[in-house]
Amino acid sequence: MPLVKKYLQDLAIFGNPPAFPEPLHVGRPNIGNREQFLELIDDVLDRKWLTNNGKYVREFEKAIAAITGAKHCIAVSNGTMGLELAAKAAEIKGEAIVPSFTFIATAHALQWLGITPVFADIDPETHAIDPEAVESLITPNTTAIIGVHIWGESCPVEALADVARRHGLTLIFDAAHAFACSHQGQPIGRFGEAEVFSFHATKFINSLEGGAITTDNDELARKIRLMKNFGFAGYDRVVSTGTNGKMNEISAAMGLTSLACLDEWIEINYRHYRQYRQELAGSIGIRLYPFDERERRNYQYIILEIDETASKISRDRLLEVLQAENILARRYFYPGCHKMEPYRSSGQTWHLPQTERLASRVISLPTGTALQSEDISQICQIIRLAASFEF
Ligand SMILES: *Cc1c(COP(=O)(O)O)cnc(C)c1O
Repeated sequence: MPLVKKYLQDLAIFGNPPAFPEPLHVGRPNIGNREQFLELIDDVLDRKWLTNNGKYVREFEKAIAAITGAKHCIAVSNGTMGLELAAKAAEIKGEAIVPSFTFIATAHALQWLGITPVFADIDPETHAIDPEAVESLITPNTTAIIGVHIWGESCPVEALADVARRHGLTLIFDAAHAFACSHQGQPIGRFGEAEVFSFHATKFINSLEGGAITTDNDELARKIRLMKNFGFAGYDRVVSTGTNGKMNEISAAMGLTSLACLDEWIEINYRHYRQYRQELAGSIGIRLYPFDERERRNYQYIILEIDETASKISRDRLLEVLQAENILARRYFYPGCHKMEPYRSSGQTWHLPQTERLASRVISLPTGTALQSEDISQICQIIRLAASFEF
């Protein structure tokens, strides 16, 4: 039974025992039905078909296509590989405009292909890439825009599509956070030329490592299928350049096991989100990132913004208080891609005030199936306590 912290001096930061004996991590994987997973593994081993477009990979692709409504789904080894394959197949080159407030893989996938990521600022309310900022960064070398559905909240799809159309740019979405989410009532997965999901262990649905590209574009899908398998169009017949982006059968089995829990996990995450919202309501200088509940969301991220000018505690001090309690909250996308290498030293000067402001304010809190309602009460109580005193 965790200690209930009633007073400031009870906090672990002052040498008291932590509220949680075991660390609560952000991004603890959701694990589905273990028996089902082990049965699938047995079957994979019995059939001795471990990879190369196996039965479970095809089933997983079919399930994702059904959930997203996309015509094609190509499962891949991870989300980063998915971004690389999509960018390569769509023949993106020169410069591509991306948000800086995203996981580094969004930028690295481009850089890896010799495409220069150009960082656009965000909307401070939604944390999404700002279409006006995108438009202002277009040069004769720009060939693409990569929108990111940050936290699973859809980014401004129509406005980005409009900019892309007017300037003849390819539009792709990094949907790593947004599996099983919607935009204007339509499932994410069919917007732009392609959308890319991640099924990494920390994501809402996981396949250990894994990812998928969804698209309605037949030609793009055909190219990506070839490219993820070295360009093989048949035994001994290589028709294009390619790489090894294949998903294996054990990952697909884990993905299918996870998918079986999709509705249950959304329900749990949603319940946690509502509890956080309720218990943190009215805390001055603390904003819980609000999801658009009219849309389908996976509620996988519980995001706090600490406004240091209004709250008594700084973001980093709050992190220290939480970490002392074994609540391993995290800064997210700090300090921003543009402040990481190789972009920081690229010689380019970035003007990203909203990104920098947000990166200094955000905390991601634990959620998911590993947490109980009492845990969230305890976490919120500590946050309220820490935020009410001047350190
Ligand atoms: C996780 C993530 C990726 C990369 O996915 P991996 O499967 O880990 O390679 C890309 N973009 C964003 C926004 C992510 O959160």
